[in-house]
Amino acid sequence: MTDAVASAVIRVLPERVRNQIAAGEVVERPASVVKELVENALDAGARELVIDLEEGGVKLVRVSDDGCGMGPEDLQLAFLSHATSKLAEVEDLAHIGTLGFRGEALASIGSVARARVLTRRAGEQLGWTVENEGGTIGAVGAAGAPRGTTIEVRDLFYNVPARRAFLKRTATELGRCLDVLQRLALAHVGTGFIVTHDRGRVFDVEREMDLAARVRRLFGAELADALVPVAAESGPVRLAGLIAPPRFSRGDTTRQLWFLNGRPLKDRVLARCLLEAYRGFNDEKRQPVAFLSLSVPPAEVDVNVHPTKSEVRFREERRLFPFLLGALRAAVARTDMATPGGKLLVPFPRVLPGTWAGAGRAPSAGEGRPRVAELEVREGPSATPLFAAEARVAPERRPAGRVLQVAATYLVRELADGLEIVDQHALHERVTYERLKAELAAGKVEVQRELVPELVELARSEVHVLAEHLPTLERLGIDLAIFGPTTVAVHGLPSLLKRRAGPRLVRELVAALSDGEKLPGPEQLLDHVVHSMACRRSVMAGDELAPEEIESLLEAAARLPHDQTCPHGRPTRVRLSLADLERAFHRR
Ligand code: ADP
Ligand code: MG
Repeated sequence: MTDAVASAVIRVLPERVRNQIAAGEVVERPASVVKELVENALDAGARELVIDLEEGGVKLVRVSDDGCGMGPEDLQLAFLSHATSKLAEVEDLAHIGTLGFRGEALASIGSVARARVLTRRAGEQLGWTVENEGGTIGAVGAAGAPRGTTIEVRDLFYNVPARRAFLKRTATELGRCLDVLQRLALAHVGTGFIVTHDRGRVFDVEREMDLAARVRRLFGAELADALVPVAAESGPVRLAGLIAPPRFSRGDTTRQLWFLNGRPLKDRVLARCLLEAYRGFNDEKRQPVAFLSLSVPPAEVDVNVHPTKSEVRFREERRLFPFLLGALRAAVARTDMATPGGKLLVPFPRVLPGTWAGAGRAPSAGEGRPRVAELEVREGPSATPLFAAEARVAPERRPAGRVLQVAATYLVRELADGLEIVDQHALHERVTYERLKAELAAGKVEVQRELVPELVELARSEVHVLAEHLPTLERLGIDLAIFGPTTVAVHGLPSLLKRRAGPRLVRELVAALSDGEKLPGPEQLLDHVVHSMACRRSVMAGDELAPEEIESLLEAAARLPHDQTCPHGRPTRVRLSLADLERAFHRR
């Protein structure tokens, strides 16, 4: 050994250490093991999968498949890093059709757990087995085995205490494993899944079940029944799936599944696209529920962005997103937004004869939820007479029945099969919003010019931001000029606006333009201004309305393409069918 080498500080790390480091990227927790093993089984052509977990997957993850199996030569290599049967040349990356391809998973997993593979190829008598204990790979030996492959991973991170310390409670780890498994089960229609935890059945889906049936099995009938199908294509790109009405939206994205060419992924761009499609129908902080599958020619996407492969890059984003957005928005508009959902309809706990509510009452499913009493209709200040329907309006949307204004805020209206409660401000906002948009689209916003411009004082930076958007604002009938380094002059405003609305509108615009990390594009700016103008112009909660005003509001709304939410996404109406009422009153 020469002096130079002896004093070298740089060393090439042994394979085992390299795998443990790589494991840091691929294997974070039991759920990552579950994902890699199930993906391998799917790549192997499995039709039936059994997944057994113990202690949240920390003690055991075992995936058994009926796929192609491995011969002894393959088994020898399976635990080596960059050993894969799925990719040979870098060029293959462009048209990857399998879920795995990096040949890293088994090597990584084996380096941080006690792993064992048992496998037999179809048509062969003998099966084979091999073990990998924390990176020490044993010899391949013959063994009796069912057709297919079973991979067992025990005691995750037993040899990396620092990583093990990061694992959460059993319930949390189990939750993450199940989230992964649910996504996979939804994505791989055609494959049956049986999942157990500590030897008890957690869930299963049969091979024959389609997406809708799987959603029903996993998430229940109420959601499944409310889903609306999406199906659209543009050239070789296809979008298919199911989306839920806005009321099913949640604080998290656990029921938002995107599949790209059959692979589930959490892609930020697609998630944003979905949020955008619900804009105006949904509270912006809530995540819609949707199960969507996008097929794109493999050469159009790059899935090699992240080692866990959950993010991708699209080559033709510019063409893809308008297509997705259009298809999704159309589907969102078709969902039923007027049903208030189970929560509002949970009846009072049933009071047994001879007992008093509250006295020693047994806990009930309805407790802690909004109560039916909140829907109680009080006698309003101005009961309005029945009015005739117009022939132009589709019969089911026609204003019909008696209307009652309650608390100068809500309009309670009789329907053929129940009743609906309209939020007058929300509905009027939608009507005004659509009208302003139509005026804009037709290029005829009527402007009221001020002889003496109103001056608005702003910060320098705000004036600067505003200056960039003057031409866009002018198209909206908002005629502003920079008057000084900290002053903006309002020369004209749309006639639709109330007088002296200038300063407030300008401040609001500045706020919209300066918040967020990115400046809104002209489209969003237009939308924002129209929103805020619509709000300013609309009748408020608390405004008493004359019968004619109510009538014209309901009629105008009935003629809109969608009037189920206000422009900010709050519902404009809550509908109670006779069936809902019967449930609420225990009539059935
Ligand atoms: P990758 O999936 O990226 O190829 P892995 O480390 O996950 O890498 O797996 C290595 C190889 O082991 C795979 O390419 C495949 O040939 C084989 N393999 C793994 N799991 C299975 C299985 N369940 N059935 C058959 N072959 C498998
Ligand atoms: Mg793999």
